[in-house]
Amino acid sequence: MRVGIGYDSHRLVSGRPLIIGGVRLPHEKGLLGHSDGDVLCHSIIDALLGAGGLGNIGNLFPDTDKRWKDADSILLLKSVVEMVKAAGFEITWIDCVIIAEKPKLSPHMDSMKNRLSTAGIQANNINIKAKTNEGMGFIGKEEGIVALTTCLLTKI
Ligand code: MG
Repeated sequence: MRVGIGYDSHRLVSGRPLIIGGVRLPHEKGLLGHSDGDVLCHSIIDALLGAGGLGNIGNLFPDTDKRWKDADSILLLKSVVEMVKAAGFEITWIDCVIIAEKPKLSPHMDSMKNRLSTAGIQANNINIKAKTNEGMGFIGKEEGIVALTTCLLTKI
């Protein structure tokens, strides 16, 4: 068995859609990024790559590559899930935390799980939690959003 950890953060800015876990959420700001800025997908990608010994998101999808400009991160995640499976692993468990002061994320968890399932992560293999940062720091000031993920892979 292998464990992996993933972390991602993106800046919140006006004029961008807010996409987390592949779901567009109603909010006056969105996450800045070369791709769609989906922090949750990016943290899951890095956790899976870490556990698989397959590098990191920056190597695979560099932000200097036009192919990933405004990319749908669900598709990036899907290709990483396929890589992990091709390397002989099964995704046993994924646990995530999204830290955002606003908007309230708990009503959207089922939608996120549904979208993540289209990338090959089954809803019964993932847990997603949402927290605020109690008003502290850059997250508390609504300057950005963070996501953390751990995963467990089993060699098959
Ligand atoms: Mg990112």
